[in-house]
Amino acid sequence: MSLLSVDDLVVDHRTPGRPAVRAVAGASLDVAAGEVVGLVGESGCGKSTLARAVCGLTAATGGAISFEGGQVTRLGLRRRDPELTRIQMVFQDPYASLNPRRRIGAQIADGLRTAGDRETTPGGMLERVGLPAAMAGRYPHEFSGGQRQRIAIARALAARPSLLIGDEPISALDASAQAQVATLMRNLAVESGAGLLFISHDLSVVRLIADRIAVMYLGKIVETGPTAEIWAAPRHPYTQALLRAIPEPDGLGTLPEELPGDVPDPADPPSGCRFHPRCPMAMDVCAKEEPAPGPVSCWLYPPA
Ligand code: SF4
Repeated sequence: MSLLSVDDLVVDHRTPGRPAVRAVAGASLDVAAGEVVGLVGESGCGKSTLARAVCGLTAATGGAISFEGGQVTRLGLRRRDPELTRIQMVFQDPYASLNPRRRIGAQIADGLRTAGDRETTPGGMLERVGLPAAMAGRYPHEFSGGQRQRIAIARALAARPSLLIGDEPISALDASAQAQVATLMRNLAVESGAGLLFISHDLSVVRLIADRIAVMYLGKIVETGPTAEIWAAPRHPYTQALLRAIPEPDGLGTLPEELPGDVPDPADPPSGCRFHPRCPMAMDVCAKEEPAPGPVSCWLYPPA
């Protein structure tokens, strides 16, 4: 059984006086215990909204989210089910998620208390993320960006989550810290038996750490599969375009913010396959009918 199962999830963003924007438009995704799944796609494709719905931070409009066998779709906006402390999130900007006025040891201790862990010390958690235990008495501003992200990871792991979600956790870091922090998240999640959903627009780092990749485009998952297979032979034209956009053939380098072609407005998505206005292989059917969801959601690969 999957640790996390997202089934046909729909999330609408509503702003008074404006049409609703369907940020997630029927996305399905699974994460197993001890598995690392990389969720990739351009900025604004709905990756972060999906993650926030999984954590209960954003209400789902439709579909179902099952975590450890329980449904979380109907979670209210203001209430967080105590069970959901077993999902911990690491955000893009660690400075925004750490309290600047509290010592980091006290903030890590909050997570240990949540887990009922009286044995582990905040210093011990710092050592697990590669920082000296003696730094527990310092404040967030006394650290570099990469160190602060390590502290955010220590705090998240202190709560003993069974699912860790990284929402673009490396995109604000120096290039030198990115792979280190991503690898650290992977190793610590896997060691503790937790699943990791790692969201990034940096495919080259996702390739380093993920067992499986899910590619998202305009609110939908268009291709999923084992990382090595997708890297060696991407099938969906959007995945192919993403991989081609990585500047270095050895996979070192980051995805540009946008691929060539106009990114459609999520409030007014194209008919049929949402990628058809940008797809070099589009056929007549593509503008008329939506391809079925599956490992590759594309009319070039109709389900058997
Ligand atoms: Fe391209 Fe058609 Fe496949 Fe969409 S369904 S990705 S437009 S070939």
